[in-house]
Amino acid sequence: MSQFLFPPLASKSIPVSGESAEYPIHRIFCVGRNYAAHAAEMGVEVDREAPFYFTKTPSAYIASGATIPYPPGSENFHYEMELALVIGKPAFKIAVSNAASAIYGYACALDMTRRDLQQASRSKQRPWDLGKDVENSAVVSTITKAESFGKVGPQRIHLSVNGETKQDAHLSDLIWSVEEIVSDLSKFYHLQPGDVIMTGTPAGVGPVVSGDKIFGSINGLAPIELAIGPAE
Ligand code: MN
Repeated sequence: MSQFLFPPLASKSIPVSGESAEYPIHRIFCVGRNYAAHAAEMGVEVDREAPFYFTKTPSAYIASGATIPYPPGSENFHYEMELALVIGKPAFKIAVSNAASAIYGYACALDMTRRDLQQASRSKQRPWDLGKDVENSAVVSTITKAESFGKVGPQRIHLSVNGETKQDAHLSDLIWSVEEIVSDLSKFYHLQPGDVIMTGTPAGVGPVVSGDKIFGSINGLAPIELAIGPAE
């Protein structure tokens, strides 16, 4: 058995509705620009050639209901309300027609973003890590099993800040379907249980400040909440 210089970090895990056991996180993938109206508000055209991805460190996960500090190095911290899916069985080079079988469940997610740093790196054609791989920036609500959620499409996806609606769309507005995302990502990675995929945000992203309370919902899923505390 290996000896460690210090105790290795335990996996973070997400609660699952109807289960006492939690879903341990292996990786967190995120899809960029998956709603046309959001791509437009970011000043870019939608590229139907292929989806694109970025990642968040699994330790960036924090449970719904938390209060997080306003992050260092930013003056423009944004919410992005998203549908997350979680993988339930290994998938590599899986066909779109089979991809649903690899999805264990769904949850509400927040892809919290240092927008100023993301845009600065974008304009310099540098990686997005400082903007996107932010500590406490991967918020996920309790997972609902796929069979309980039903077909993705008609559900409303909604986010409010301090009770005021900011994002309001439907999952049918997704450019790349959840099956297309799983199939495409599986061309590049051996997807496996523990992999979480955030599927992109609709239009209406915007900043939060210390003291703000975010509430997000998708019909049929456990809602998501986040409070923004003071800067550290
Ligand atoms: Mn996002």
